[in-house]
Amino acid sequence: MEAGRTTAPSRPRAVATKYVYDFVEGSREMRELLGGKGANVAEMSRVLGPERVPAGFTITTEACVAYLAAGEEPEGLAEQVAEALDRLERSAGKRLGDPGDPLLVSVRSGARESMPGMLDTVLNLGLHDGCVDGLAAMSANQWFAWDSYRRLVQMFGNVVRGIPGDLYERELTAARSAAGVELDTDLPVQALRDLVDRFKAAFSQRTGEEFPQDPGEQLRQAIRAVFDSWSGDRAVQYRRINRIPDDWGTAVNVQRMVFGNRGQTSGSGVAFTRDEVTGAPRPSGDFLVNAQGEDVVSGVRNTREIDELRDLMPEVYAELMEILGILERHYRDMQDVEFTIEDGRLYMLQTRSAKRPAQAAVRFAVDAVREGLLGRDEALLTIDAASLDALLHPTFDPAAEYRVLARGVAASPGAAKGTIVFSAPDAVAAAEEGRDVVLVRPFTEADDVAGFAAARGILTSEGGKASHAALVARGMGRPCVCGASELAIDLSARSMTAGDTVLREGDPIAINGTTGDITVDDVALVEPEMGDEFATVLAWADELRRLGVRTNADTPDDARRARQFGAEGIGLCRTEHMFFNPERDALVKRMFLSAEGWRRLRADAQQAADDERPDAQRRFDQADAAFWRELSELQALQRADFESILEAMDGRPVTIRLLDPPLHEFLPVEHFRAEVERLEQEGGDDRLETARRELALVESLSEANPMLGTRGARLGILYPPIYEMQVRAILEAAIATARGGDPPRVEIMLPLIAYETELRLLREFMVRVAEETMEAAGERVEYSVGTMIELPRACLVAARIAHYADFFSFGTNDLTQTALGFSRDDIEARILARYIDRKILDRSPFETIDEPGVGALVRLAARSGREARPDLKLGICGEHGGDPDSIEFFERVGLDYVSCSPYRVPVARVAAAQAAVRAA
Ligand code: ADP
Ligand code: MG
Ligand code: MG
Repeated sequence: MEAGRTTAPSRPRAVATKYVYDFVEGSREMRELLGGKGANVAEMSRVLGPERVPAGFTITTEACVAYLAAGEEPEGLAEQVAEALDRLERSAGKRLGDPGDPLLVSVRSGARESMPGMLDTVLNLGLHDGCVDGLAAMSANQWFAWDSYRRLVQMFGNVVRGIPGDLYERELTAARSAAGVELDTDLPVQALRDLVDRFKAAFSQRTGEEFPQDPGEQLRQAIRAVFDSWSGDRAVQYRRINRIPDDWGTAVNVQRMVFGNRGQTSGSGVAFTRDEVTGAPRPSGDFLVNAQGEDVVSGVRNTREIDELRDLMPEVYAELMEILGILERHYRDMQDVEFTIEDGRLYMLQTRSAKRPAQAAVRFAVDAVREGLLGRDEALLTIDAASLDALLHPTFDPAAEYRVLARGVAASPGAAKGTIVFSAPDAVAAAEEGRDVVLVRPFTEADDVAGFAAARGILTSEGGKASHAALVARGMGRPCVCGASELAIDLSARSMTAGDTVLREGDPIAINGTTGDITVDDVALVEPEMGDEFATVLAWADELRRLGVRTNADTPDDARRARQFGAEGIGLCRTEHMFFNPERDALVKRMFLSAEGWRRLRADAQQAADDERPDAQRRFDQADAAFWRELSELQALQRADFESILEAMDGRPVTIRLLDPPLHEFLPVEHFRAEVERLEQEGGDDRLETARRELALVESLSEANPMLGTRGARLGILYPPIYEMQVRAILEAAIATARGGDPPRVEIMLPLIAYETELRLLREFMVRVAEETMEAAGERVEYSVGTMIELPRACLVAARIAHYADFFSFGTNDLTQTALGFSRDDIEARILARYIDRKILDRSPFETIDEPGVGALVRLAARSGREARPDLKLGICGEHGGDPDSIEFFERVGLDYVSCSPYRVPVARVAAAQAAVRAA
């Protein structure tokens, strides 16, 4: 750009931005601008009438954003506030700071989403030395006036000027003991006056300024403080955890005060339209007599159950109950309200949709439909699908108190306790003895999987939500806490330390995979039940959803469990997981070794054939025969595996993926090296020779980047007999199952296809093997052949690939990994946390699909695949298949089904229904 040519930007001044809205102008639709509290206070005064809701106005979130960007109030704000205040004063018939009859206001924060306790609020603003007496005279209540002033000086100092709260609490405690009373409400007026003096002194000592006597100045400072509280540490952390964007800002609500501290016919409280823990259709809540709202939440006094209000103030109670009903019907959701009673008159100060645990959410949805409040579709939308997970796992007793030893990533929900073991074999041994153990490892690997099944829970010090430990644990429904980096685990010493606590093998430990908490205290666990209401919700979800829900299951156990949870088929059966088994381990290692031996022998034979030597054919035959000797045993095992899985699924579709291991997981160099060293110690013999040969072979196979090396289809192209063995086993199992009952529906799936030519080659080969197998058996079964779509190239050439595929299954874990160049195992703990911190990302792309990037690839492949082949079946089998936000996306791109781990199946059913309702 040529600097000289541009004219200086002129200030946009024509239309002044409207920063202030009176409550009467607002409504619930305006929560982005007015914040949730402001929008709902406005809505409430429409619904309940202005006499129920004290008047006031809201300063917009835009004003806050502008203030935070510029470091000062945006132009026009001060004037608009003054005008709104003037209107408020006129409607109230009182003026701020008026010595005879002062108007007092509250200054309340309120963001678009509620951030309880994170932002600031100041009450009783407007009082100063010159008007306390006026307030006392008007109310004929000295105590009330001085209690209000005491509260203002205290809250203002604390909230607006950051003076630590315990300084005030210490003064209050001293005042109570000096007066010989237990409660603030019993303090004599003189004590309150003294407290005001002391609080003011503390104020000037701490801030170097006098406590502001000008109400206008109080208001300005309080508004700024609320704006500033948006950037406070507490609020920033809360937003991080709850994924609330930093750029929303908070609104500020200025509202005429009503007083719960005017004596025995006054009070303040909170209430839920239904029981906030169980969801039972009975309001719950707490209140205090002669108190302002802050006292109820701050715990300075013991609150009373809302039921007691019925006896104390029957009319107020009846009104409150009626209002709760009105609000719930109006908002069509369970509400959580705040109220104040001033001299027997009930005022409503806040309402919002109640946060609730999964059981309450389910109960509400079912009751709301039964009561005719909501339709099924609406009722389903009131449930946070992701939270339903909690209903399927044991949890820490909510009433239990315990000390948190350390915290990690909440990687797989549910709670577990047991004694510590540091290795998978120890876990297995313990399980055989019937002991409950928690498997503790720095991280886990393929070899540890048997330990997952044996342990109650898994705890690691490294890795995140997409680490091996997390994935396997979720798949198996084992609670898991990952990446607890405060733990220093010493495997050789069989101990770990957290701070100065040392724990050894056999010591008790408890983990909560829902929260990430780790404790050594003996916390009680409570078992979940899949109650009738949950079953009802799931049945509705099944009626409303379009997407099919399948499961990822590698064992008959998984398959059966998933069916109980309502899985309609298996979307991913990973055959390599059947090999992760100590007994099969040796067989599998031999298979891979002889595969490589076979490849070399075949190459020699080929050379012989090229040289037209007469022994060429014999060499080919010998190579094949040697390899098949190794393979046939595995083929029999696999056939049995597949048979029991097909039986468990009873005629439902089962997608079996051919082997896709990174080779190093099965051929770890260290294992072979250790064997050589061991045999060397014992003194060499033939076995040492073999071990050395094997080590050399394994070393020659080791890859710099195994995840991008000899995997998936590449393995099948390099060593066709392995896939041939698997296809035979699958077809034989299908034939055997068909004899017994419903014809199975097997779908053979090829992993890691990039080129249409790979798929063509393998498909031809597999169809040939299948035909041969069926011919040999003299029976036919239906089967289809499809492919994983998990490489960007496959997405880009999906039309060509579709030519050779009956179905696509998006493997979004690998697709995310390869599209982003993120190594799942390395990125999670080290990079992602930092990225989220720096706001480069707001969540892990392995948790919720990266819609603009990876999602675009999925969309493209789905569309062009279907164009090339309209009957192409489309599914997704990555971890995203159990994530509600991702499921919503898969609904929009028109996939046929999602597949997720067994325990996520109910979540996916509900999320799929919600997605369908939203799409409609
Ligand atoms: P939070 O978001 O932390 O709940 P609020 O702005 O809701 O903060 O204020 C906390 C409490 O202060 C309310 O529950 C209510 O009891 C009291 N309060 C706020 N505004 C008023 C008011 N205008 N009159 C009386 N009490 C109020
Ligand atoms: Mg509140
Ligand atoms: Mg994959």
